[in-house]
Amino acid sequence: MNDCPFCLIASGEIPCDIIYGDERVVVFADIQPRAPVHLLCAPREHKGSVLEADVSLVGHIFAVIAERHEEWGLAEGFRVVTNCGDNGRQTVGHLHFHVLGGRQLSAGFC
Ligand code: AMP
Ligand code: ZN
Repeated sequence: MNDCPFCLIASGEIPCDIIYGDERVVVFADIQPRAPVHLLCAPREHKGSVLEADVSLVGHIFAVIAERHEEWGLAEGFRVVTNCGDNGRQTVGHLHFHVLGGRQLSAGFC
């Protein structure tokens, strides 16, 4: 049984307000937002992390972000982050990109 939370969100088995979806990806609000706008962009197909993603998928995700960012309240700028593995503090083992903005973010990365 697949109990991956982001697979369940993508398939509609966990109720979630999906603000964008297409055949490859879903975008939804992070349940624990760290910025006024904190979205997660995840592939519908399970991928453990960015190590399992191909160029086409990553390119598609960034194209969606570029196309939609203004309607998500990110016209003034934003940050895209993907955590990978233990040292990267990845806590959900399904590839996702955090899209953060809605205020000026801190200068540091770590
Ligand atoms: P990471 O630590 O990079 O793996 O990020 C996982 C993110 O998923 C965290 O920011 C969590 O707040 C978020 N998260 C976990 N479960 C859910 C959920 N059911 N809906 C939305 N966001 C979630
Ligand atoms: Zn999954």
